[in-house]
Amino acid sequence: MSQISRETTEQILAATDIVDVIGSYIEVKRTGPAYKALCPFHSEKTPSFNINQARQFFHCFGCGKSGDAITFVREYENLTFADAVKKLGARAGIAVVEEAPDPKEDRARRQRGRLLDLHREVARYLHEMLFTREATHARDYLKSRGFGKDMAVNWQVGWMPENPETFLSWARTQNFKRGEWIEAGIFVEKDRGGIYVRFRDRLMFPIRNEHGDVIAFTARQLRHDPNSGKYINSPETALFKKSKVLFALDRARKSILTEQAVLICEGQLDAISCHEQGITHVIATGGTAFTPDHAKLLRRYAKKALLCFDADKAGIEATEKAFRVLAAEGLPVRVVRMPAGEDPDSFMQKHGAEAFREVLGNAVDFFDFKIDRASAAGLLADPQQRLEFAKECTSLLSLIPDAVIREGMIQHVGTRLKAGTIELRDAVFRTARAAKNKPPPIDRNAAPQPEKIEGMPIDSTVSYLCGLALHSGAAQEWLAEQFEPIHEAAEFLEGVPLLEEILSARPDPTSHVSVNAFIASLSEPQRLALTSDPTFHDDPPENAVTAAEEALAEIGAKALHQRGAAIDARLNQPGLQPGEINRLLNETKLVAELLKGVRQRFVFSDRFAPKPKPPFKPFPRKTH
Ligand SMILES: [Zn+2]
Repeated sequence: MSQISRETTEQILAATDIVDVIGSYIEVKRTGPAYKALCPFHSEKTPSFNINQARQFFHCFGCGKSGDAITFVREYENLTFADAVKKLGARAGIAVVEEAPDPKEDRARRQRGRLLDLHREVARYLHEMLFTREATHARDYLKSRGFGKDMAVNWQVGWMPENPETFLSWARTQNFKRGEWIEAGIFVEKDRGGIYVRFRDRLMFPIRNEHGDVIAFTARQLRHDPNSGKYINSPETALFKKSKVLFALDRARKSILTEQAVLICEGQLDAISCHEQGITHVIATGGTAFTPDHAKLLRRYAKKALLCFDADKAGIEATEKAFRVLAAEGLPVRVVRMPAGEDPDSFMQKHGAEAFREVLGNAVDFFDFKIDRASAAGLLADPQQRLEFAKECTSLLSLIPDAVIREGMIQHVGTRLKAGTIELRDAVFRTARAAKNKPPPIDRNAAPQPEKIEGMPIDSTVSYLCGLALHSGAAQEWLAEQFEPIHEAAEFLEGVPLLEEILSARPDPTSHVSVNAFIASLSEPQRLALTSDPTFHDDPPENAVTAAEEALAEIGAKALHQRGAAIDARLNQPGLQPGEINRLLNETKLVAELLKGVRQRFVFSDRFAPKPKPPFKPFPRKTH
């Protein structure tokens, strides 16, 4: 259970607009009265993610995700219910009053909170240390890279003292347990007991999550030490998952949305340089391999990716690897061509930010980048080597998921390689098919994919009535009085218990807070059964009570047909006793009478009109 009172939650929801909230995370487009977006929860090219402002409800017709603003924030940021409510509360300026907490959830949250506190304190302390006399060489190094105090303050750059005792004696004054220091990866436990400090005489750059909390550090060597890497990072912790964190994304989010593009650099200092020079749609991989999770994270904000890696062999390999990951997630990739031996940071120091912007503007499509390099290396002059190279391109082209973009690229690459487009296209399709038939590679770091949940089976008329009962006060009131006919249908039609649940809970249709809270209380299959009916998302008809009457009559008719079919099936069974046959025949007569009554009462409404129905036969062989 949540620790936040229902009143507070309702108050926050009433002060929140779901379109604003979602619009602060992803790009939302208004089309007429409706708001649409590309779904952040599944991969798609055309928007099937809808936001209903009046109902304060989102729903994706592609993957079935739906809910209110709390659900969105919770799913998007992977928060607990309470944390999502608090986040929205802070947005709306409403203080959140907590009640007695759930011990288990609270403990996990407290531990996470302690780790965040620890990182925040360490970042603060190390930043102070940067301005001490002992850290002159660290500041000199920053100066040599063209960074002054402003940058150091802006990015909270720190220095880890050379003498571990200095840090240890500060750490002892802090209110954290030994286990927490180890858990955070700041201390390392020795094999024979005892601990040591992981970093030593290094520049410390805080790594922040998407929301700006310090969750790890990346540490740059200041004195050459062949026994240790130039850069080392915090280890993976409960807070820091390398494959899911991109350096500076917390600052770059907004610009990536407005620029619709993300510039991906290798080094943290490159990203910092760009931001300091006012180029702010920039993130850094920080030397870790680019993963599908990274690409998914970026796809929430960016429409295309610009890669700006070193022009050396390792950088070029990293470019191709990143292309594979980004292309597979549907992000077109352009490559920034840096002069050999330069990175964005060194380039801007020599030539300034304007010159770098120009280099960015001259970025080329990934395949042009690849072909130019092959051409410069003389690979395209030799027919055999050109064939080999074309094969390489084939496997890369086959990664592009969008058929139109892929086709354009095949033609382009075909022309440039003077290869037949038809052969190239065939080869691309063969490769794509072969890749599809291969079992997917096992990614041990990837979170287990949630099983796709199916909606619970529900009769279409029953689900229509559920929608009416949730969205029209008058229809709900009338239906709540029809307990018997509804309950009688339960034996023959699927989904009736859900309708009964609505009519006993009776959420207030005039309050989206009340309706959405009820929907949130349903099981996933129940919720999917409701929201996958397109009529659920329409406004109820003006004459909602008439519509409810008609639908209920249809339910009665459907149930009678089912009942008739069941009797029919029994009568067709061999070896029935005469008494039993008699009883069944009497029931047959009763059902026929009842159906006659229904036929007289039953007027087809618009909703049921489109598919003309066959004339009533008392006992059709098959019912739908
Ligand atoms: Zn979706």
